[in-house]
Amino acid sequence: MGCLAAGACLAKAGKKVLLLERHYTPGGYTHIFKRRGYEWDVGIHYIGEVHRENGVLKKMFDYVSDGQLQWADMGEVYDRIVIGEKTYDFPKGVNNFKNTLKKYFPKEAHAIDAYLDLVFTVSKASRSYFAEKAMPVLIQKLFGKKMRKSYLRYATQSTLSVLQTLTSNKELIKVLTGQYGDYGLPPSQSSFAMHVSVVKHYLQGGYFPVGGSAQIVGTIAPVIAAAGGSILTNAEVSKICIENGKATGVALTDGKIFTGDTIISGAGVMNTYKKLLPKNVINRHSLNEVIKNVTPSVAHVSLYIGLNGSPKELQLPKANYWIYPDDLDHDGCVARFEKDIEQPFPVVYISFPSAKDPSWEQRYPDKSTIDIITAMPYAVFQNWQGTSWKKRGEDYEQLKEKIAQRLLAELYQKEPQLQGKVDYYELSSPITTQHFMNYDKGELYGIDHNPERYKQRFLQPRTPIKNLYLTGQDIVTCGVAGALFAGFITASTLLGTNIVKDLMQTKKVATVNGDQRD
Ligand SMILES: Cc1cc2nc3c(=O)[nH]c(=O)nc-3n(C[C@H](O)[C@H](O)[C@H](O)COP(=O)(O)OP(=O)(O)OC[C@H]3O[C@@H](n4cnc5c(N)ncnc54)[C@H](O)[C@@H]3O)c2cc1C
Repeated sequence: MGCLAAGACLAKAGKKVLLLERHYTPGGYTHIFKRRGYEWDVGIHYIGEVHRENGVLKKMFDYVSDGQLQWADMGEVYDRIVIGEKTYDFPKGVNNFKNTLKKYFPKEAHAIDAYLDLVFTVSKASRSYFAEKAMPVLIQKLFGKKMRKSYLRYATQSTLSVLQTLTSNKELIKVLTGQYGDYGLPPSQSSFAMHVSVVKHYLQGGYFPVGGSAQIVGTIAPVIAAAGGSILTNAEVSKICIENGKATGVALTDGKIFTGDTIISGAGVMNTYKKLLPKNVINRHSLNEVIKNVTPSVAHVSLYIGLNGSPKELQLPKANYWIYPDDLDHDGCVARFEKDIEQPFPVVYISFPSAKDPSWEQRYPDKSTIDIITAMPYAVFQNWQGTSWKKRGEDYEQLKEKIAQRLLAELYQKEPQLQGKVDYYELSSPITTQHFMNYDKGELYGIDHNPERYKQRFLQPRTPIKNLYLTGQDIVTCGVAGALFAGFITASTLLGTNIVKDLMQTKKVATVNGDQRD
């Protein structure tokens, strides 16, 4: 998403862009795969803030796709937090959200109001923090500290520590952080800024690309092509070429070399600073030292399920389930599972993509799909590192099958009508993520979204190497919107203009009131 967005913005400015992707299919985590007559989305289950014609995110997506990308509303409830026997719905709309939470927690009305006010305050402060990343170096030196200050006040605190200043109700904290799987870290480890980004992002509901995630690359690729650019798949970069201290091109694993005025890496900072640059360049700029300030995010397993029957026949909901054990807080559940994966899953996320896409029934009649995701320590699967896809051995398949059965049991508990309807399933492991996405430790979300991350000045488009830039989730945050925004700030840095601001000036944004708060 980061490179697609940067590429489209640069193409719109008349630049000829070559996008190199090592996978056999483009799109990064927005790619889809097909098997046995089904299609699954890998890294998109819902996106927020694309509902308003004049909203920032909608305008950004419209810009890079020439208005071709369409969004389907998931309905009144986007997330359903399940803790033991209790279910807490997250309905769309700020007031709905507030009132529903107050019904669940009537004694906490004051804390809930204060919480939502804080979400908007911190979200507003994020604008100058992220805008600063695209400013000219001189402006960064003169005003950078001031631009980052108010956001950093919250970004450098953990989600738990901030929430504990608002309430001592542990159940409420557990519910409010019920989407922590969207950024991968439980409340005592995550930055409150990241928590706010996710909560605010979905407050107006969840949306899904009409036609599935493949529409993202499908609508952006023509914009890149219109300026003479292209996207190559099966094109793995082995090295970024540096001559006289400047990036001049890239070498592929198959020996091809491409040269260019500007090189942008969206392959993640870990890959870029640890693997893609020559050793002497890494040492000269102490990149091996700066990279020690960030850590890889958690790995995951995903169960891709195909079912006989249409989403309507199977009564599939559109809302996602977030299922948690009720005996411990999120941090306790994570710690317990990390020690022993036989213990209850710390989180089970169930998504029903075929029910969210209005074009599904026409594209795949009488079929449905479901994805179930849980966190999984990379260490559990590391013995299979270096083995070949589909030939990892019987013990690997057995471990996967055991996990798959546990996840299916969670599904049947919530949606018992699906017993006997499952036609096919396949579990991806952290090794699958490593294999297809090139995340060394099977990272789900690039680098961790902990308080330390937000202090890192190197997480911005500019690098110490002339003509080499970064983009993607690591320089903003994870999420399709985070990576999209990263693409815009990288292109803005290169073009010397704030593209988002320019876009927003083309038409006024909807007024700031009640549910329309931006
Ligand atoms: C299971 C899952 C569910 C998710 N659900 C959602 C969701 O519902 N909503 C949401 O907003 N976000 C979701 N996300 C997060 C979101 O998909 C990502 O944060 C975002 O797409 C990341 O985009 P990116 O461009 O930064 O990186 P990526 O999508 O990871 O792209 C980086 C690309 O670089 C390629 N690459 C790496 N090394 C090389 C090399 N040497 N040469 C060439 N190419 C290389 C990789 O193959 C990859 O395609 C989810 C992610 C996952 C994994």
